[in-house]
Amino acid sequence: MANKAELILDSTPDDNFLEGHCSACKTTKFRLTGNTMDQKTLLRSMYDRHFRRVHSREDADNRISPIATDRL
Ligand SMILES: [Zn+2]
Repeated sequence: MANKAELILDSTPDDNFLEGHCSACKTTKFRLTGNTMDQKTLLRSMYDRHFRRVHSREDADNRISPIATDRL
């Protein structure tokens, strides 16, 4: 089975920025300056948008596709 896509946070709670990436597409990164609750919510919604665009399609027809191809 393909890896389950999820948001991995690379920044720590002590950083003054938020950085994360998608576990299924290593080249997809998300970065925001600041580290407030609102910005965490924003980072999550950026990821959700990526997930719906890239990964839910894949789930829908249950086919493994090279998900990162359109970014290369
Ligand atoms: Zn992804």
